[in-house]
Amino acid sequence: MRFFFVLLCCHLAAGASAAREPEPDKVSRPDVFLITIDTLRADHVHCYGYDRIRTPALDLLAEQGIRFNQAFTPSPITNSSHTSIMTGLLPSSHGVSDFGVPLATIYPTLAELLTKGGYRTAAFIGAVILDSKNLAPGLDRGFEFYDNFPELPTSTSRWGRLERRGMEVEQRAESWLSTHPAGAHFVWVHLYDPHDPYEPPPPYSEVYKDRLYDGEIAYADSALGHFLTYLKKQGWYEGAMIVVVGDHGEGLGEHHEDTHGIFLYDSTTHVPLIVKLPNEREAGRTVEGQVRTTDIMPTILSLLGIATPANLDGDSLEPFLSGVEAAPRTVFGETEYPLRFGWAPLRSIRKEGFKFIEAPKPELYNLRADPGESHNHYEPWDGTVQKLRKALAELSVQSPALEKTSPAAVSASTIDELHALGYLDSADAGSTTDVPEPSLLPDPKDKIEQQNLLHTATMASEDGEREKARAALEKVLQLDESSALALTQLGRIEMASGNYAKAAGYLRRAHVARPNDARDAFEYGRALELSGDLAGARDVLLASLKLNPDQFEARLALGRVYFGLNDSNAAEDQFEAAVLLQPGNSEAQINLAKTLIHRKKFAEAVELLEAIAEPSSRNPEIFALLSQAYAGLGRRQEAQRALLRAKALQDSKRPQ
Ligand SMILES: [Zn+2]
Repeated sequence: MRFFFVLLCCHLAAGASAAREPEPDKVSRPDVFLITIDTLRADHVHCYGYDRIRTPALDLLAEQGIRFNQAFTPSPITNSSHTSIMTGLLPSSHGVSDFGVPLATIYPTLAELLTKGGYRTAAFIGAVILDSKNLAPGLDRGFEFYDNFPELPTSTSRWGRLERRGMEVEQRAESWLSTHPAGAHFVWVHLYDPHDPYEPPPPYSEVYKDRLYDGEIAYADSALGHFLTYLKKQGWYEGAMIVVVGDHGEGLGEHHEDTHGIFLYDSTTHVPLIVKLPNEREAGRTVEGQVRTTDIMPTILSLLGIATPANLDGDSLEPFLSGVEAAPRTVFGETEYPLRFGWAPLRSIRKEGFKFIEAPKPELYNLRADPGESHNHYEPWDGTVQKLRKALAELSVQSPALEKTSPAAVSASTIDELHALGYLDSADAGSTTDVPEPSLLPDPKDKIEQQNLLHTATMASEDGEREKARAALEKVLQLDESSALALTQLGRIEMASGNYAKAAGYLRRAHVARPNDARDAFEYGRALELSGDLAGARDVLLASLKLNPDQFEARLALGRVYFGLNDSNAAEDQFEAAVLLQPGNSEAQINLAKTLIHRKKFAEAVELLEAIAEPSSRNPEIFALLSQAYAGLGRRQEAQRALLRAKALQDSKRPQ
């Protein structure tokens, strides 16, 4: 009965609001919906002139709003790019130049400012790359609700663990809006679908079977369409401000870049930007002037009459929206992602029809004559080069964050998530990123084939396609036989396949290529341990711990190796160090207890084991060891009791 009543009320409310004038509150504070579509090239959208695709929702918004034909992101990486949208700042200003770097609290976010302005705010993300628990800390600031992924995923599949399909994201946004209908809303919806791997659901997988990237875009557009239909049904569409933007593009093989992140060419920085104003103001206008995604935040704030923070890199687009002549904006580009491979970061400036890219091998393109950026006209004495280089250098001076950027430390599970999404973690780059002068690093242009192959291998490994991963990595080694990235990945594949000696062969070469990398040395040591070369493992693990003494896994491994070499004195030291590093870790405690018993230090072993042998403990090994330790002290009855407990636990573990 009550359910029916609620249904009826909802029905009446929806019907009524569609017909009547917008509430007065919605006039002064219109709803704001920000939709970011991941990995969306402007030139793959129908209303941007691409006739091989159907994107009716984007086309409709462009018809009823303002389409910016020349909009650019400062960053080809999801986190940095979204943070720029949300703060109006360049990555070098807000400092989020990498995954996992927290957004400093001194930079106000759009959500915070809109919350202060009386808005109800919520965010719905399509991939863990924007999860504020680990990979995008601080991006949730100001949101009343931020739809992170579950802490403990219930599914092992990609869906729900790493990604949500556009339709699911959209439906989650709808549910929130339906349960929070009152007041003005700021809702951000992130559609991740066009990001690789390109796996659109049917019918898009069929219709676009030869162009799956386009299929993902068409699918994301359909999710957007559902959302717009929902807004119309609620009577919220007309009065709302709706902004749709791509976070970055996709290389699709242009400049030999398959995906995105390494380069700053238009293929990955030119994005669609559509702004629909309340009540179709300025409907159908197109803007040719060059603008930036950093302009979005100040635009929304100025349209709502909310004060814009000082010193933003972006500027309100209001003069463009109303068709008043406005000077094109200078576009800056920045990417630090190459550092993860040990290659030089890039900076660019796009101004007055030219693009200059600062790199070990700098580039200058005349975009009017050469929109595909294929003829590099760089000469150090060229007037345009000098002018643009100067502007870029001045920007770097203004942005101290650029200098102090260091790869973010993220947890092991976060590293797994990054790999699963096809990105390398900063640890993968090894110590090469310590090189003080980026210009001494290799130019990414000379390395891009390797990056494509490494990306293919990472994605193949994630999908369990070991042969495909092996083949791609072997090709990297043909291009660069000492590629530590390829060697460590090959080593890991062989480790996972149980081919320890083969793994040790690859990991030895990685260790030789990067002798100062503690993780490389540890992995090589593990492979030696498992392949039975204990003396070799000991030496390499010692070297690894010398580089970084705080490695828990390396302490454990070295302890086991010493124990195997009958040096229980040294083993005890290592297990003690492991227990100090992770006091609650039972594996370290059990190993230490085993060593103490071996050394006949029974009283110490009893003390250690009694502390962890709680009534709730289900580990039979703890009680078996405790029994031995009691026996060593002559406490026979207690030894017997502990042994019975161990046996009972062992039996209960066996399948019935
Ligand atoms: Zn992205």
